[in-house]
Order: sequence, then C-alpha cells, then structure tokens
Amino acid sequence: MFHLEYDVMVVGGGIAGQETSLNLANMGFKVILIEKEPSIGGKMILLSKVFPTLDCASCIATPKMSETMRHENIEVLSYSEVSSIERIDKKFKVKILKKPKFVREDLCTGCQECEANCPVNVEDQFNFGLVGRRAVYIPYSTAIPKTAVIDIDNCILCGACERVCPANAIDFTQEPEYYTLKVKSVVLATGFNLFPARKKPQYGFGMYPNVMDAMEMDRLLSPTRPYNAVIRPLDGKIPENIAYILCTGSRDVSVGNPICSQICCMYSIKQAQLLMGALPLADITIYYIDIRAFGKGFEEFYQQAKDMGVQFIKGKVAKIEEIKESGNLKVRYEDIEGSGGVKEMEHDLVVLSVGMLSNPQITSSFKTEELELDEYFYVKQTDPLINPAKTNLKGIFAAGTATGPKDIPDSILSAGAASAEVAAYIRSLK
Ligand SMILES: Cc1cc2nc3c(=O)[nH]c(=O)nc-3n(C[C@H](O)[C@H](O)[C@H](O)COP(=O)(O)OP(=O)(O)OC[C@H]3O[C@@H](n4cnc5c(N)ncnc54)[C@H](O)[C@@H]3O)c2cc1C
Repeated sequence: MFHLEYDVMVVGGGIAGQETSLNLANMGFKVILIEKEPSIGGKMILLSKVFPTLDCASCIATPKMSETMRHENIEVLSYSEVSSIERIDKKFKVKILKKPKFVREDLCTGCQECEANCPVNVEDQFNFGLVGRRAVYIPYSTAIPKTAVIDIDNCILCGACERVCPANAIDFTQEPEYYTLKVKSVVLATGFNLFPARKKPQYGFGMYPNVMDAMEMDRLLSPTRPYNAVIRPLDGKIPENIAYILCTGSRDVSVGNPICSQICCMYSIKQAQLLMGALPLADITIYYIDIRAFGKGFEEFYQQAKDMGVQFIKGKVAKIEEIKESGNLKVRYEDIEGSGGVKEMEHDLVVLSVGMLSNPQITSSFKTEELELDEYFYVKQTDPLINPAKTNLKGIFAAGTATGPKDIPDSILSAGAASAEVAAYIRSLK
C-alpha cells in the first residue's frame, strides 16, 4: 500500500540500499526505497561469483531482493527517480517521478510472451551490449519485480505485445506519475559508475572486438549469462590465451582518477580462477602494478590463483594493438620485475579490469541546500572514523559505494552503520 509519509527514504536498490532498508524495516521504521532501474539488485545481481569464497552472487542476492520487495515495512518504487529533496522543519519534502513502464505491474505475470513476440532488437544494457534485447523486456531472469517494461524510445508501436499478453497488462496510455512524500531521513545508496574503458583509447576498447571490460566477462561467467560459453566477440572462437590489464582507469592521473578502486585485483583473480574451470586449456596472464590483496582470505586467494597456473606479470601496459589477420592482440608493456625494458606479448582476448567512478547525479536533487562531495566526487563523509554514514546535511546519510570504492562485504557493513545512525537520528527527533 502506498503512503505519503515514511520514516526513511533510501535512494538506490543495490546491495547497500537493500541492506539499509531491511535493517531499518526490521527495527520497525517505515521505509520507501527508490530505484531508477526496472529491477532492484544493482551491480551485484549481474555478477558471476564473489571473491574470495567463490559463492554464487545471485544465490546470495536474490533472496535479499525478494525479502526487500516483500517486507511489510518497505515500499519499493522501481523505475523511479528523485526529482527534489527539500528540508521543511524537521522533515524532508521529496518529489518522486515514476516513469511509465507501459505494462501494468499489478497484472503482469512475467511470462515473457510479449518479449518472444516483439520484432525489435536493441542492445541489452544489462548484458553490456554483448547480446540484444527486445523493446519490451524483463531486464534479466532474476529481476525483482519480475515485470516487463516497454522501452518506448525503441518501440515501433506495432501492438504485437498487446495482442499476445494473456494478462492484458500492456497499457500504452500510461503517463509519468509524480508523488510528493514526507520523510524524516534519507539514505543515499546510489552506488558507483564503471570507468568507461573508451577513455583509455590506447587499449582499443570499442575499436578491437576482442578487447572487453571485466563487467562483460563477469556476465559471461555468471549463471544468467547471455550465452552458454566464454567466446571471443569477434568470431565466437574459444579463447586460449587471455590477458587481464589491472588498474584500467584506477590509480591513473591521466584519466583524473588517482585512487585505487579496491576491487579490481580481486575480481580479476576471481575471474581468472573461474576461467581456469571453464576453459581448462587456456593460459591466463594478469598484468599488474601492485596486487592489493588486503582483506581476510585475499592473499590466500591470490596464492591459489598462482598455484592454479595464472601468470602474474608486474608491468604497466602502454598500448594494445590488433593483429588484423587473426584478431589477436599485441600487448606492449614495461617489464618491471623480469629482465626489464619494453616487451610485447600476443593474446587472443584481453579483459580490461575497469575501476570504479563516483555517481554524483543525486546532488542535483537537493534544492535548498548543497550536498558536499569529496575531491573524487563521492558523497563526503564528514566524520568517517566515528559516524561513517554522516554527510554534511543533518538527516541525510550515505551507504555503500556512494561514499567511495568498496567490495560487497564492506558495502554491507557500511549499510549497517547507516542504519544505526539513521535510527539514532530519528529517535532523537522525538
Ligand atoms: C566487474 C566487477 C566484479 C565485481 N566482483 C565483486 C566480487 O566478486 N566481490 C565483491 O565483494 N565485490 C565485487 N564487485 C563490487 C560490487 O559490485 C560492489 O561492491 C557493489 O555492487 C556495491 O553495491 P552498492 O549498492 O554500493 O552499489 P550498486 O551496485 O552500484 O547499486 C546502486 C543502485 O542504485 C541505483 N541508483 C543509482 N542512482 C540512482 C538514483 N539517482 N535514483 C535511484 N536509484 C539510483 C542503481 O541503479 C543501482 O541499483 C565487483 C564489481 C565489478 C565492477
């Protein structure tokens, strides 16, 4: 049931936003969770397995998504955005825009008949362009809510979906809906953006088909993968000699991101181990500046990859060039620990281990005051040692990668901190 007053608005339905919502809802607070995509889940639901335990990401994520969706104290508004946040006395007036899905969520059963009959094919953003999707689509098989959305910009209005929908759920008359709510507190859990690999043109992403980024590789290795094998995009050949280029867009002043993304070393080592299972005959080489295996069990995980036969080369990669005849890639690097000098190696697939960038878009929603960002454009933690979720604005808190690079366990921990700080704040209002 939709209400006009809530204790807390959580913005962002990734793992940090879900965890914050569940913690607060379990304490008895009424929570509204706003997610801009058609499904909650964030990046985690798209991953293969998680380091260092190699547990299946979606097996952990889906029960949490479903608990969030069904909790009696949580209202989830998917495909929605926050237009404005204004402080009024001790509360916030927030305006929400719910975008039309052109499918009635109360009727859609998720049967995908519409998808099967839609004649339009466009790039699938949830598979990072590896495959296509239809103009009417369910983002992925583990989506929650599992209801279809019509991408009206690409729809040709042929009516095929409407004719086959057994639930009569297609509704082309839907308009955007606007809600004005009152909340006592807000948690920003808006996550991170992936470093766009095209910003390193010397690595050839977007130019050479056999150069992909690590998010694409995680999709290829996940249980909800777009096709049932790891293949080269150029020709569908099974790769035999795969390279990883660490720190693509992290610790790199030339692209304006000098900080470490904290996850790329470990997710690359994870993918290398998964690839050794999927392609036992493939050689895997990881080019790195430093391996930052700082967490519990991480160093052992790194050693395990070495023992499995992954080759680690300490060397900064300067350039990647395609060999026209084969589509293979020539990687030119500075050999720091070996015999030294500039060297070249040939690989048939290159994966760029792209880093995290901030997602500061939410700042424009604050109409009467300014949310402070840190020097890297993450939400600024004004008291990181004692109140890590506190921002410069009273009553506004932040969780997960909205405040800086974090892996999943650290995002969950920060959601715990945000929940405790919000609860104390709301109780102090009485
Ligand atoms: C290739 C790759 C592999 C990885 N592998 C691992 C791994 O094995 N183990 C591990 O621990 N970590 C891994 N990570 C890191 C992991 O993805 C993050 O730690 C985790 O996703 C952070 O969760 P989050 O909720 O903070 O952010 P996100 O997952 O980014 O979620 C943010 C959510 O907020 C929504 N949102 C954003 N802006 C708005 C807005 N204005 N209004 C409404 N909604 C909004 C987004 O749509 C999204 O749903 C990996 C990352 C990558 C890129």
